[in-house]
Amino acid sequence: MATFLELGLKEEIKKALTDLGYEKPTVIQEKAIPQVIASTQDLKAFAQTGTGKTAAFSLPILEQIDADSKQTQAVILSPTRELAVQIGNNIKDFSKYLPNVKVTTVYGGANIEEQIRSLKKGSQIVVGTPGRTVDLIKRRALKLGNIRWVVLDEADEMLNMGFKDELDQVLDVTPEDKQTLLFSATFPREVEAIAANYMHNPIEVSSGQKNEGSNDVTHQFYLVNERTRYPALKRIADVNTNIYAIVFCRTRRETQEVANNLIKDGYNADALHGDLSQAQRDSVMEKFRKKNIQILVATDVAARGLDVNNLTHVINHKLPDQIENYTHRSGRTGRAGNKGVSIALVNNKDKGKLRPIERIIKKKFVQTPIPSGKEICQNQLMHLIDKVQNSEVNESQIEEFLPNIYEKLSELSREELIKKFVSLEFNSFLSYYENAEDLNNLSSKRDSSGRGRSDSENMTRFFINIGRKDSLNPARLIGLINDQRITDNIEIGAIDILDTFSFFEIDKNFETAALAAFEANEPEFSGRSVNIEITKKERSGGGRRRGGDRGRRRNSDAKSGFGRKRKDANDSSGRRRSSGSTDNRAKDKRTGGFGRRRRKR
Ligand code: AMP
Repeated sequence: MATFLELGLKEEIKKALTDLGYEKPTVIQEKAIPQVIASTQDLKAFAQTGTGKTAAFSLPILEQIDADSKQTQAVILSPTRELAVQIGNNIKDFSKYLPNVKVTTVYGGANIEEQIRSLKKGSQIVVGTPGRTVDLIKRRALKLGNIRWVVLDEADEMLNMGFKDELDQVLDVTPEDKQTLLFSATFPREVEAIAANYMHNPIEVSSGQKNEGSNDVTHQFYLVNERTRYPALKRIADVNTNIYAIVFCRTRRETQEVANNLIKDGYNADALHGDLSQAQRDSVMEKFRKKNIQILVATDVAARGLDVNNLTHVINHKLPDQIENYTHRSGRTGRAGNKGVSIALVNNKDKGKLRPIERIIKKKFVQTPIPSGKEICQNQLMHLIDKVQNSEVNESQIEEFLPNIYEKLSELSREELIKKFVSLEFNSFLSYYENAEDLNNLSSKRDSSGRGRSDSENMTRFFINIGRKDSLNPARLIGLINDQRITDNIEIGAIDILDTFSFFEIDKNFETAALAAFEANEPEFSGRSVNIEITKKERSGGGRRRGGDRGRRRNSDAKSGFGRKRKDANDSSGRRRSSGSTDNRAKDKRTGGFGRRRRKR
């Protein structure tokens, strides 16, 4: 493998990399750096987070930047504030010994005047989220006329979040002869369209096979139903005594509920989603990085900016709506040479979604039984014994107390002593799992309550009279909904795009406002006037949805995308939704919840 110097990087950059502990280039760096230095040809890179892609695009730009000119020469677009800040900080680190190179990071939800002042001083490199970058271009604070490089980082995620218009607007004002570097973990149709529209004969490089997951990740699935989903999650946490994991959820509400339940049950857990203020999110991420939080429950978008290399597990509390996102999620573990496990909790209905994912990751999911109480006790017990074995004894401090202790315990044999101290630490655990049910049997049974109460109960499902034939896709539908200004920060749930009509869910508290907004605005889409109607709730186990047979709906499910607000993911609303109690929680209580057995570190 080549060294950084052999890839064509100057000494000042090499020195900064050494300071950062980068010894050898990663695969994507080895492929992209010499290519971008030697040629102005556009580049399409298949790379996930964790592969070293930030350095792969930043280093060749730093190598060639004209530090004597103050003009903006490179603009790097990234989907979230967190990721933009991380990239900006990385570039500052890489250019530590290039004193004239200036980087400005711009993102929504922060003071735009300050960002304008920073741009005015002259930054050769600008890192930004799409929305704020467009704002700054419109205000003429950011001029892209002399741009030599445009980087689209996590292009799939930017398009997922509905930023297509913003990408178009930025790319439209950059010079023809710039070099475009597009990095994406997945290449759905929308990303290919951007490449086709804006890139000239791009060379393709890859950190592995297209869309393929890391070799260091094993993939498991656990069969659950809505009754056993949460208890199964707890058992997975309990059996893996050193768990350090992200639990991915699809909606903010689901995220908050799962986190609340875990916290209540004594785990070091917290939630990360877009309803938290930026300060709250920063604080949660910091605690997670420091491992003060062991289990982070997060939405896909909120977790994007987290740079953590040593996760033991990624847990899909529910599979993502867009199956490509599974690769993004599982790519958070098995990084930097570590091994990791990606777990999917699936019910009978969702099992069918595993096959298409297997085709993408080119690996099989291993069905894994939900651990039994006995297995958990065994693991926890051995963990405790390991801790005892490895604990350091401070001889001098303990010395003066020992004679009394020895005397008090002199009656007990070695065996009795061991049993007693293990029981002291362990009784609550043992009693909790003493009569634990076999969740595998329960999971294979249908839910007696029909569908889970989770998300759909809080959402209203709407019919809308436009569909795929009108060029509707999830991102455009989210854009259309947001354009109606129903309320700030409306939560959008599942989306089903069919040929001539579609369905979407929004927070049920805003169903009347949504009807009123669509009626008042009389929106048009692809030349058709748009109308929406509330659909009847589907009853458990039966009842067709309006206009679509079940087969069709399932097909569309695979393609539908969970809606997120179309804006920079740095919403600073500061609201934290409270969540009510759930079925699972109530059921779990019945099994006797053992409370705070996991001590905060
Ligand atoms: P990225 O994919 O750019 O988010 O990088 C993932 C992680 O790997 C970050 O923590 C980087 O600091 C680290 N990293 C990137 N390149 C290297 C390298 N060549 N050697 C060691 N660590 C690296």
